[in-house]
Amino acid sequence: MKDATKCLHSGYTPENGGPGVMPIVQSTTYAFNTTKEVGDLFDMPTAHMYSRFSNPTTDAVEKKIAELEGGVAAMCTSSGQAASLLSILNLCSAGESFLCSTVIYGGTVNLFAVTLKRFGIECIFFDPDSSDEEIEALIKPNTRCVFGETLANPKLAVMDIERIANLAHRNGMPLIIDNTFPTPILCKPISFGADVVIHSTTKYMDGHALQVGGVIVDSGNFNWENGKYPDFCTPDESYHGVVYTRDFGKAAFIAKARMQLMRDFGCYPAAHSSFLLNIGIETLPIRMKQYSENAMTVAKFFEESGYFETVSYPGLKSDKYYDLAQKYLKDGTAGVISLTIKGGRKKAIAFMDGLKLARNEVHVADIRTCVLHPASATHRQLTDEQLVAAGINPGLIRFSVGLEDVNDILEDIKGAFAAVDAVED
Ligand code: PLP
Repeated sequence: MKDATKCLHSGYTPENGGPGVMPIVQSTTYAFNTTKEVGDLFDMPTAHMYSRFSNPTTDAVEKKIAELEGGVAAMCTSSGQAASLLSILNLCSAGESFLCSTVIYGGTVNLFAVTLKRFGIECIFFDPDSSDEEIEALIKPNTRCVFGETLANPKLAVMDIERIANLAHRNGMPLIIDNTFPTPILCKPISFGADVVIHSTTKYMDGHALQVGGVIVDSGNFNWENGKYPDFCTPDESYHGVVYTRDFGKAAFIAKARMQLMRDFGCYPAAHSSFLLNIGIETLPIRMKQYSENAMTVAKFFEESGYFETVSYPGLKSDKYYDLAQKYLKDGTAGVISLTIKGGRKKAIAFMDGLKLARNEVHVADIRTCVLHPASATHRQLTDEQLVAAGINPGLIRFSVGLEDVNDILEDIKGAFAAVDAVED
């Protein structure tokens, strides 16, 4: 099946006379006939037993997303943050480290650099535009994986996934890619060598701002028996001696994430959230195409307007990442544009407050156009040094183009330019 068909049909097939729409299984628990059947599930979870770590509605969405990304299995989480967290915790313990691109979402920077540090896990940042030698020089004997974003929020840098995957692999490590902005419709990181893909499904996948969620997808391609990951190939005494690689084969990563981490942390989505997420995914292909088209028109308008020092949108020929986008995002570069307005913070705020249709909100990648000033919102926890490393300027505006008629979006922007003109230099 092609993506548009998978978005509608993967994960759930009605039984004869069954509901045509994937039902919400609103139950925390599942009933069995015998004590033995329940007991056996504690040796090997072959059925749903408790909705802290699996549920039929969420399971259907997990199967759909795994198919879209070209993976063998997926596990939904209650937020994108939880997906980032569990993807790292599945590989790193206290006393170990991992490599992470500097240009990623600010919330992820904080989680990795501040919170994980408190638990003894070190995040070593690398500039994804630096050479292989420079990046490899950062790897330590205890480094367990590499993490980056396909299309970084908010800098919109495009990661050279194939190069970084090769680098990780020749050092015996998996590459984890946060593919939130492109979604599998515009980029499939696994096809370029990524081993694990994560998402904040809160963004385009849902698309309608209805649920906060995340997902982890396992490519099934990484060799966990290379000597670096004993937790995958020796008995897990916390799960009655399960050996993930032996018992789950290619799906070892997701099995371990679910049976150890989801069991213990319990950050699993509610069935109703998964139902809403599924509705969003059903229209993902046509939405991603239209976001990309609208954003291209708006980005060109911004570029020609003269109001901005920089207009970052990898679909623009002038963009630093245009060539990488031609390889990784050839069907479109999604709806988010990063702008640095001339005149800094004051003019940025005048522009944002001058918009009437576009909403000023803590959100991005939505069906409605929205804007955010990262330096005073999502990235306010970063030090100036970290802000610069993440490419955040005080005049930076993240403009997320929605699916309104593009002419209405352009009219709104013209009105905001008038508000900028009214501010004294
Ligand atoms: N990854 C990216 C690229 C994001 O943009 C975000 C949130 O904006 C997250 C992860 C975290 O996701 P959530 O807000 O669903 O926890």
